[in-house]
Amino acid sequence: MAHVTTPDAEALLDQPIQCLDHGFVRLVDYMGSDESIVQAARVSYGKGTKKVREDRGLIRYLLRHHHTSPFEMVEFKFHCKMPIFVARQWIRHRTANVNEYSLRYSKAIGEFYLPASEQIRFQSKDNRQGRSEDNVPPELQQRVFDILKSSAEQAWAGYEEMADQDIARELARIHLPVSTYTEWYWKIDLSNLLHFLRLRMDNHAQYEIRVFAEAIAKIVQAVVPVTWEAFSDYSLNARQFSSQEMAVLTNLLKTLPETPDWKQLAIDAGLSSFEADEFAEKIEKNT
Ligand SMILES: Cc1cc2nc3c(=O)[nH]c(=O)nc-3n(C[C@H](O)[C@H](O)[C@H](O)COP(=O)(O)OP(=O)(O)OC[C@H]3O[C@@H](n4cnc5c(N)ncnc54)[C@H](O)[C@@H]3O)c2cc1C
Repeated sequence: MAHVTTPDAEALLDQPIQCLDHGFVRLVDYMGSDESIVQAARVSYGKGTKKVREDRGLIRYLLRHHHTSPFEMVEFKFHCKMPIFVARQWIRHRTANVNEYSLRYSKAIGEFYLPASEQIRFQSKDNRQGRSEDNVPPELQQRVFDILKSSAEQAWAGYEEMADQDIARELARIHLPVSTYTEWYWKIDLSNLLHFLRLRMDNHAQYEIRVFAEAIAKIVQAVVPVTWEAFSDYSLNARQFSSQEMAVLTNLLKTLPETPDWKQLAIDAGLSSFEADEFAEKIEKNT
């Protein structure tokens, strides 16, 4: 099969998508498409071209049943620029290849993330890792902004002074705040990328990394639109229930005056006949 390209993805190549105040995500290269996933999945039984509808059904089946290896056939290479505190969260995703801008070798990028005023929020009371929805008085937002800005400017002035005196860059950098921007090349396969997106597009993830995840999501959608649709349906917008939660739902379903036609309801909601059968089977097994 010839090298596969996707028109929507080609249009995004080398186009930085702006993230936060000075950051971006840029698609440098990609390999594969929805077709490559189907091709890999079918290799065992050597079938030729199938109808688009069947390909979509296969991709949805693979994704729904966590048959992840065909999704590893698609690769993405990004150039990203983000604040160091975002990079620290991002680097925890170990299943990617990374090459970062070196502050031992090169002078630091003199740019710092300063949050927009609506992002300056109180500590959340119910989510220890999050921000509250409560309004922060504008004068307090301004004060926070001024603190962040002046300390970044001060740190940068100290860094430049050390650089002017030819102090080693690897030492001078320890003065810089985690709001300093860094850059890297990041290469990852689609299966691991979807895992990253599921975690980092979730509203439990910090707002600043979510902005980058959402930019990457736009690119993924352009390269593999059918996989993206399946991922949205069966992972991103799906929910898992514990056995206790299942018991609550099962008991509730038992109170219905008559058994609905589960398959038809699923078809009406947009599932294929095969998917609707799986849905009906899931419900019937638990009621
Ligand atoms: C909302 C949120 C809050 C977080 N809070 C914290 C926090 O407070 N403190 C903190 O330290 N981290 C925190 N993290 C980071 C989190 O614990 C994970 O390190 C990060 O999300 C990467 O996930 P991962 O390991 O699944 O991804 P990857 O490293 O990409 O790994 C993908 C999958 O590969 C497998 N894998 C990879 N490496 C190994 C290995 N060595 N052994 C076994 N299996 C492996 C696992 O199945 C893993 O799920 C947080 C993450 C999120 C999304």
